[in-house]
Order: sequence, then C-alpha cells, then structure tokens
Amino acid sequence: MKHYIILILLLLFTRHAYSQKESLTTFSSPFDFPLIMSGNFGELRVNHLHSGLDFKTQGVSGKKLLSIGDGYISRILVTHGSGHMLHVRYNNGYTAIYRHLSGFVSPITERVDNYQYENETWEVSITPDSTEYPVHARQQIAWSGNTGYSFGPHLHMDLLETESGDYVDALPFYKHLIKDTRAPAIQSIMFFPQAGKGVVNGKEERQAFTPGQMKPIQAWGLIGVGIKAYDYMDGTNNRCGVHTVSLSVDDKEVFRSVVDRFSTNESRMIYSWTYNAYMKSVIEPGNKLRMLQAFNNQNGLLTIDEERDYRFKYELKDLYGNTSRYQFIVRGKPQSIAQQDYTGKYYFNRDKVNSISEPGLELHIPKESLYNNVLLNYNVRIDSESIANTYQLTDEPIPMQTYGDLYIGVRNKTVADTTKYYIASIGKNGRTTSLGGKYENGFVKTRVRELGTFTVKVDTIPPQITAVNPTQWRSTGKIIFKITEKGTDIASYRGTVDGEYVPFGWEIMTNRIIYQVNPLKVKKGVKHTVELVVTDECGNKGVITIDTIL
Ligand SMILES: [Zn+2]
Repeated sequence: MKHYIILILLLLFTRHAYSQKESLTTFSSPFDFPLIMSGNFGELRVNHLHSGLDFKTQGVSGKKLLSIGDGYISRILVTHGSGHMLHVRYNNGYTAIYRHLSGFVSPITERVDNYQYENETWEVSITPDSTEYPVHARQQIAWSGNTGYSFGPHLHMDLLETESGDYVDALPFYKHLIKDTRAPAIQSIMFFPQAGKGVVNGKEERQAFTPGQMKPIQAWGLIGVGIKAYDYMDGTNNRCGVHTVSLSVDDKEVFRSVVDRFSTNESRMIYSWTYNAYMKSVIEPGNKLRMLQAFNNQNGLLTIDEERDYRFKYELKDLYGNTSRYQFIVRGKPQSIAQQDYTGKYYFNRDKVNSISEPGLELHIPKESLYNNVLLNYNVRIDSESIANTYQLTDEPIPMQTYGDLYIGVRNKTVADTTKYYIASIGKNGRTTSLGGKYENGFVKTRVRELGTFTVKVDTIPPQITAVNPTQWRSTGKIIFKITEKGTDIASYRGTVDGEYVPFGWEIMTNRIIYQVNPLKVKKGVKHTVELVVTDECGNKGVITIDTIL
C-alpha cells in the first residue's frame, strides 16, 4: 500500500515536472530585427524535407546572429553544402544548427583559421567540449550569410531534440513573433490509379485536376490520391509546406500528415511520400515517415467498388489554425482494368534481395532498399561502336532508400587508362550525370541509389580553371578562380601561394574557388606565385599558375 502511494506520488510529480518543462521552454529571437520566414519546417525540397526554418535577413549578409538560449557551442563546421555552420546545444534539451553563415566571431574565427592552415583543408569540423564556448541568450555567436547551397542571404536554423536527434519544428516557439493569417491552399489534385488494379476516367495513368474545376471523377478499383499544396504567411510571397493535411472519404478520415518531426534517415523518404511536388495521401511499404498516418488498413489507398458517389474531402491547416477545405466527388463506375503483363519482365519485390544478371550488366539491391515493389521496363540499347551499351531499367527514375551495386561491361576500350571510365545516369532529357565508378575486370562498378538508365562514359578532360580579374586581387584581397568541369564532378582541389598551402573555399553556387588573402600569412604589396590544382573524379588535373602582386 505504502509503495503504491509513493508510486502514485512519483508519477504525479514526474508528470507535473514534465508538463512544466514543456510549457517553460522558450527561445529568444536569433535576430534583433523583426522575423520574416522564407521557408518552414518540413517543406518539400528536391531531394529532402527542409529540416529547419529559413529566416530572411533583410536582403543582406552580415547580420548579428544571436544565440536563442543558454547553452554551449557544440560543433563548428565549414562545409561546401551548408557553408559556415554552428551547432549550439541548449540547456533545455534542444540543439540548434545555424547554416549559411558568413563568418564566426572571436575566438572561434581564429580557431577555424588555424585549423584550416594546419590541416590544409577548407572544410572544418571541430567538436568543442561543454566548457569551451558557453553562450547565453541574445549573445552574438556569428554573422548571418549566404554561404554554401543558398539562393540568397538568409539564416537556416534547425532545431533538434538533443536526445533523439530528431529535427522538430521551431515555429511553435516563434509564433508570437510572426504573423500568419493566410490558410494553406491546394493547387492541384492528382489521382494515382494502381497498376493492374485501378482506373480513373478510363485511364491507367496518373491524372491531375485543378480543384474547383473538377467534374466528378469516374473511377473503379484501387486508386490513390495526392495534392500539390502550399502554405502562405503574411508579409511574404514565399511558398511554405503545409503543416497538417487530412483526407476523408464519406466523412471518415483515411489519411493524415502532421509535419512536426523527422530524423535524418526519414528525410529521404520524401521520394516515397511525394511524386514530383505532389504529396501522396498514401503510405508505401518502405515509407516509415512517422508524420504520416493512414486509418483505412490499405495505407491510404482506396477501393472504389460500388456504383455510387464517394465524397472526398481535404482539410489543410497551418500551426495558427488557418484552415481550408476542398471537396470533390469520385463516382464509382465499372470500367475495364487492363491486367499487368509480367511475362518476361523483371519484377522487384522490396522484401527480397533483387538482382539482374544480363550480358554486360549486373545489379544487386539489398532487401528493403525500394519503397515499393517495381515492375521494371528493362531495355538495352546495344551499340557496338560505343564504350558500353545503354541499360534502361525503368522509364522514370525510381529512388531507393539505400544503395545497390551496379556493374556495366565495357565493350570498347577507347582509352587505355582505366581510371577514366565512369558510370553515367541518363535523364529523360538525355542529360548525363556522373555516378563515378571503378574499372575492374572489364566492368565499371558504382553504387546507385536510384533505378533509371545507365551507361559507361570516359572523362579525359581536366577541369578548366580561369583566373577571375587577377588585376583586382590586390585591391579586393580576394583571389578568385572559376572552374568549368564537363563529365565527372570535382573531387578535390589545392591552392598555394609561393608553394605554401592556403585555404581556398569552393563556392558551389557559382563554381568559384576563392581565397580571402590573410595578410598575416601572405605579405601584401609584393609579388607572389599563386597556384591552384583541381582534380576531377577520373583523376584529370587542371593546373593554373599566376604571378602577381597581392
Ligand atoms: Zn533552409
């Protein structure tokens, strides 16, 4: 009995403490000017879910970035993709990641400088311990910027739950500072008849409709539905992602997405959740996004098997409660459904290891790499003149969660040096993308994370380097080179002044490699020899040497 009372007291106490912690968690603004967002949590990006909030910085770089709470700087990074970055671990259980910064503040600036010269690398990764750089709320910790993969000056701020490492939406902490009276809106509704099982308006292809202009849709069998939709905020034209989407049929909810948390691993599952910019109200077997829920034991797919009207309703809501509703009718009408022909075709079952062994082609995909089962449309374009055949596995690229191994045989060894061969993926427009690869016993091998169309190509051309306005380097204090690379990507580069390493940074948006001259390392006003070597994935080296006064 006594134990019970203690247990109950303990439970009451912990529950109380927990809810108190939740309600007391606050963060201050990262800036000393009004907040306007240009991107929200979880919005759809080309190959990932946006992991944080984007804040506008009044059109410029170099705004003071203020710590949003008390804690310590737990990581200092310089990367090509996110530019200068800081992780700050806060005492309240959250960690913030600030990206695209233009620079750090003292003494971190000096530490990063030294790291770059000592390690002869532009990219920096430092993990300080909790005592090195404590910070308090509103203290300046860096300068906002536009570095890395960024389309204009802004701050990207992620908020992670430190313990789980999950990305969470930071907007609930800033709602009171940001005005939003605009509801999300659907641009287009898409139907996904399931191959061999369903049909929409007499067709088996995906079909899109504009809401409000829809005549009743006639369907039969197994179908899915999805929407292209955006949320909007006051004072900005940026399109954001939609926080809550709910689909109901005949007043019964069948699917719901609530964009509030995901892990790094889940972020790629955007490929399964979406088709182009459409969010499917269907959960494929390999889609483990915790933000999605289906309630109809068909993972959101719908069976239209009665000759009647099915009333579909979408309800979209943002965090402020702004809501929009869309209704349309799907009319059950028997239509013939063409059976899928599996004869002589590869069928990949996602629960199994999948392989292809054909002349000149080997493909091995681990279990559960695919998000769904796939019927391949395998086709070979045999060309005895070219380096290799072109292998089409699927009409459209089908991304996977994990990598498979791909081997393609070389028919004609047009170049003796085997390091020059690489596997290229060929897009619908004919554009090729390098997937790298290594030559071994007549085959080029690489890893693929997408099914599509592949062949082997050769790259023997070194990256082209041009000096950008070298006469101005002295006055601007910036040494700038422009890189042009066809074929494979840039693998590495190294810049020196008078034979000594200096940290050049690679600006991926402009393909420029830049060194901000440090007068402590490079004497001003005298003649120097600047050299830059750029190497592509096939080992082709481009070299430029310039003698000039800096
Ligand atoms: Zn961002």
